[in-house]
Amino acid sequence: MITPPRFAADVMLGRTAKWLRMLGFDTLYDNRAADDILQELCINENRFLLTKDVALHHAMPSGTSCLVQAVSPRQQIKEIVSIFRLDRFVLPPRCPLCNGELAAIDKTQIKDLVPPYVFRTQTRFQQCSLCKKIYWPGTHLQKINLTIENIRRLSD
Ligand SMILES: [Zn+2]
Repeated sequence: MITPPRFAADVMLGRTAKWLRMLGFDTLYDNRAADDILQELCINENRFLLTKDVALHHAMPSGTSCLVQAVSPRQQIKEIVSIFRLDRFVLPPRCPLCNGELAAIDKTQIKDLVPPYVFRTQTRFQQCSLCKKIYWPGTHLQKINLTIENIRRLSD
């Protein structure tokens, strides 16, 4: 099996980074990260840099960064999916907020962490391993799945 590529997105690509995470790709994004930190991270952690910045793109070793041409986030995700052939991979979604992995969590452990109505009506929950945000099918996960479907359709 081919390992899915890992990414780091520059400050211009916040929305696109969230979508990549929802598609399950490990994508670093920090809108306060300076260019040199970003560069170092990519090299040390073997990540492709996704950037809108021509100078930054040229400062990266050849083949380690992708100069994103599209303007809108929808077209950007389409471009990235096509360049890296991301449609080969079907991955579990990651937390769009922080890039953490989501894991199933037992209902009894989250009683105080979700609204009472949600607790009463939902049975399956997932939790982000990093920021601890709880996801459930009724809202977030459904939204994530819809986003994934939309992105898949875009890349057909
Ligand atoms: Zn998270």
